[in-house]
Amino acid sequence: MTDYKVIIVGGGASGLLNLVELVSGNNALKPSEVLLLEANDRVGKKLVATGNGQGNFSNAFVSENRYHGDEAFISTYVKLFNQVNLDEYFLRLGIPFCEGEDGKKYPLSKQANSALDVMRMFLESKGCNIKTGEKVIDAKVNGKNFVVKTQNQTYISSKLVLAFGGKAGKQFGTDGTSYHLAQNFSHFLTEQYPSLVQLKTPLDRIKGLKGLKENVIISAFDGDKFLSRAKGELLFTEYGISGSAVFSVSSYLTDKKSPNVKIEFLPGFSEDDVAKLLKERQKLAYINGQDLLIGLINKKIGQALCKNLTNPTAENLAKLVKNFRIKITGNLGFNYAQVTKGGVKTNEINPNSMESKLQKGLYILGEALDIDGDCGGFNLAFAFTSGIISAKHIKDNF
Ligand SMILES: Cc1cc2nc3c(=O)[nH]c(=O)nc-3n(C[C@H](O)[C@H](O)[C@H](O)COP(=O)(O)OP(=O)(O)OC[C@H]3O[C@@H](n4cnc5c(N)ncnc54)[C@H](O)[C@@H]3O)c2cc1C
Repeated sequence: MTDYKVIIVGGGASGLLNLVELVSGNNALKPSEVLLLEANDRVGKKLVATGNGQGNFSNAFVSENRYHGDEAFISTYVKLFNQVNLDEYFLRLGIPFCEGEDGKKYPLSKQANSALDVMRMFLESKGCNIKTGEKVIDAKVNGKNFVVKTQNQTYISSKLVLAFGGKAGKQFGTDGTSYHLAQNFSHFLTEQYPSLVQLKTPLDRIKGLKGLKENVIISAFDGDKFLSRAKGELLFTEYGISGSAVFSVSSYLTDKKSPNVKIEFLPGFSEDDVAKLLKERQKLAYINGQDLLIGLINKKIGQALCKNLTNPTAENLAKLVKNFRIKITGNLGFNYAQVTKGGVKTNEINPNSMESKLQKGLYILGEALDIDGDCGGFNLAFAFTSGIISAKHIKDNF
């Protein structure tokens, strides 16, 4: 005798959309047949903080090369993402999207919390069972059923959905202490690294630059091997570098042996353009040497670039402006990272349904899995999609 047909562990992006879909559309389950257990005192705590509170929920340019992990798994997910059509899905739910820079999709209100309000209103109107303040501490299979234990109670269900997230941002309830729930079913965990995170650099190279924000092109390298490039904001800080462009390349760097970046200032200009400009300026006899950079880029940055320069020709200065190489010595870690790189190995999960290949009736979603996306809505797009497609499979299999 089961208490519920489905128990969902975690009321974040993937768990909430799983619940929404389970009680909607074809073969909808009765809301009383599903239980969502959330450790925090409310659901969607992280969701409201996403996109600086604006909720960058998806992206117009979801494609294989925006994700890191097993290629076959990612390729199937991208096909399913296109079939699910999150824009229409959220619109039907009452949350129209708008599109910002670089294809980023937001709720039209540009308020993640108002989008969560709509989800909550939908779930309340259906009378869904959501128990907050209930951290699941153990889950196992007993015959055909799952036995799920929280600090307070034991529940039994026919199917179990693990949507407990990763270990980035422990202030939102995701501290990496729930992976054992997947390991209980013999799932293998790949090593976890912080991703979409601020990067540390040697401080002598950026001395005096703290607080300066520049639009740059930043390229990530492991030794000399090029990894990825991003265009956007870079912020110099007391520990190194931050900003949207830095976040974008960080996912390529945190698990590498010799991580370093090339920063190109004046992104609209090539090295030749800059050299030409500097040569023109040389004709003004009153501007010489490294002063040639004054008025072209921030003065403090110019000084930092020229620190060890002995021969400030136009060519050498242009090279520095377009090729500022700096080592990455670390990152700010999981407390500051937005995403976890690594997690439950995806070749043990069927990408068409998110069902475990090791345990029938068990589903693992979202950031708990070893797949992470670039900055720009790609991680929520995966979490939401995995919640929806797993729910469709669950409904079709009762
Ligand atoms: C500050 C910040 C900003 C971000 N901004 C963006 C953005 O704009 N766009 C984007 O695409 N991505 C963004 N991300 C990443 C994105 O939020 C996550 O990748 C996504 O939320 C993962 O969804 P999930 O459902 O897998 O896990 P989560 O949303 O993390 O939800 C997991 C839930 O499970 C609960 N839980 C954990 N263990 C248990 C347990 N044992 N029992 C019960 N409950 C449990 C947690 O409390 C949590 O509520 C951001 C992340 C952070 C930290």
